[in-house]
Amino acid sequence: MSRIKVGIIGGSGLGQALTEGKSESGFYPNTPFGKPSSPIICSEWEGVEIAILARHGRGHIFSPSNVPFRANIFAMKMLGVTHILASGAVGSLREDVHPGELMIPDQVIDKTYKRENSFFGNGIVAHVEFDQPFCPNLRAILLEAGKSINTTVHDGGTYVCMEGPQFSTVAESNMHRSWGGSVIGMTVMPEAKLAREAEICYSLIALPTDYDCWKPHPKGKAKHDLLAEIISNMNKATARAIDLIKAALKILPEKVDEHCPCRSSLALGIWTDKSKIAPALVRELEPLLGKYMTHTPKENMA
Ligand SMILES: [Zn+2]
Repeated sequence: MSRIKVGIIGGSGLGQALTEGKSESGFYPNTPFGKPSSPIICSEWEGVEIAILARHGRGHIFSPSNVPFRANIFAMKMLGVTHILASGAVGSLREDVHPGELMIPDQVIDKTYKRENSFFGNGIVAHVEFDQPFCPNLRAILLEAGKSINTTVHDGGTYVCMEGPQFSTVAESNMHRSWGGSVIGMTVMPEAKLAREAEICYSLIALPTDYDCWKPHPKGKAKHDLLAEIISNMNKATARAIDLIKAALKILPEKVDEHCPCRSSLALGIWTDKSKIAPALVRELEPLLGKYMTHTPKENMA
């Protein structure tokens, strides 16, 4: 069995829960795309090597539009991460998805428009398949692990990813529901796209903290009571997500599919003639391209 290393990207709630109180030491490289959101803490849970990253940085300093997504995934790749379990707080768009429960989405509608969403494009063009935005193998492992968790873990659902940072209007929220959206959040994109380009299996645990604004609040409920309720749901979902990740790590080494298509997404994805890719670019993107670029590009050998 080849080595597996699991990256854990913690969103609002979970990111803080896993990194608070930890020292600033960790893997904090200068990638071609800048530094990751925070130093990556390398550790071991359930006998599996893990690498923990707080998506919004220590102290929640990056808004969804400003998270250095490319640096985060590139740094994970530099560490040899093979699988990513990410978490993200969301609003529920479905009556049956109750705040405090968990969801393992299987589809995405990407509405973001301010983010760099590829490692490629300047001197090298790549088109990876993305019909299944989340790794089916990793989703199955999370769902199986979810049977031992003390809450409902919803199997599948469409995550609508909005740019933010403001929340939706009621008209938008109703539109997202009419599109078939199950939950709405601000961070899974372009993270999942970049993980696919980096040939890392990626799955998301969505943490519904409230019903999005399509559902009217109960009359007479004070604003600070509503906020307290959201925080309480977030804390509940966060604790359950940590339980779920640990349960998944227990079964992951034996259940993992070594030949998952995510792990070779670039094999047919690089459209640029390899002899035309500048050696400097190959060196810069070595963690991503190394296995496909074993020879120095011909025309640059002179
Ligand atoms: Zn996969």
